[in-house]
Amino acid sequence: MNTAGASLAVHGLSVSFGGVHALQDVSLTVEPGRIVGLIGPNGAGKSTLLNCISGITRPDAGEVRLGEIVLNGRRPDQIVGLGLGRVFQHPQVIAELSVLDNLQVASHRSLGYSVVAEMIGTPAVRRAEARARSEAVAVAERVGLADCLDMRTGSLPYGQRKLLELGRVILLGAKMLLLDEPIAGLNEEEIEHLGRLVLELRGSSGLSVLLVEHNMGLVRRLCDSAVVLDAGQVIAEGTPDEVLADPRVLMAYLGELPADA
Ligand code: ADP
Ligand code: MG
Repeated sequence: MNTAGASLAVHGLSVSFGGVHALQDVSLTVEPGRIVGLIGPNGAGKSTLLNCISGITRPDAGEVRLGEIVLNGRRPDQIVGLGLGRVFQHPQVIAELSVLDNLQVASHRSLGYSVVAEMIGTPAVRRAEARARSEAVAVAERVGLADCLDMRTGSLPYGQRKLLELGRVILLGAKMLLLDEPIAGLNEEEIEHLGRLVLELRGSSGLSVLLVEHNMGLVRRLCDSAVVLDAGQVIAEGTPDEVLADPRVLMAYLGELPADA
């Protein structure tokens, strides 16, 4: 596993949908090994920003860089291959496969062997497969799924599917992680586990994280800093405590105060 964190730099990003300015001249930076919260009321443009970073939405203007590499114009799968992992609100795992197989598929994809070499099953490929399997088992242990390796993924509870998705992203070689409201639908214990896991990944692998989250308790606990979007613009940035005490931020949230702010 490649484990060094990468920086993410967004510069002057703008996107319109018809007449709606979803993002206007948005800039932000996530340094290697930092966890940055992205907060703001509904419709602020948070998901649009993540979509631009991951290549799903093409911005009208601006640049996105992962380390030295410009991501603009690349396909989402190419961007994943460059080390940008994304955990979606709805886990993107294959329901019919076991937990172990789902992880092995991810580990395997990052090996980069040709289809022909895999079909022939050369010794190098077989060795690589054995390695993919042991990596998959190690990651399953790391995310807390070691006891359900053989379970069909479709029968896993929702919270565990999220953990599986996080494991999959680790195996795909993520250096920078985008999390879009990762705790939606999780219970207290699962939230605690996911929070610990994100901190542990940053500590051990230096992973960088951009976290979209409405739960301000979690933002305070995990994030080194936070950026606040409102109506497509950055209105504040600083430590979580600073931005959550900022009158402009409180105004933006009026009528929609987040849980335990
Ligand atoms: P958030 O994730 O902060 O709630 P979004 O990024 O989803 O906000 O949305 C920002 C704005 O852009 C909203 O006004 C939303 O209605 C609009 N929007 C987002 N995606 C599309 C789209 N594909 N087509 C048209 N409008 C969109
Ligand atoms: Mg959203």
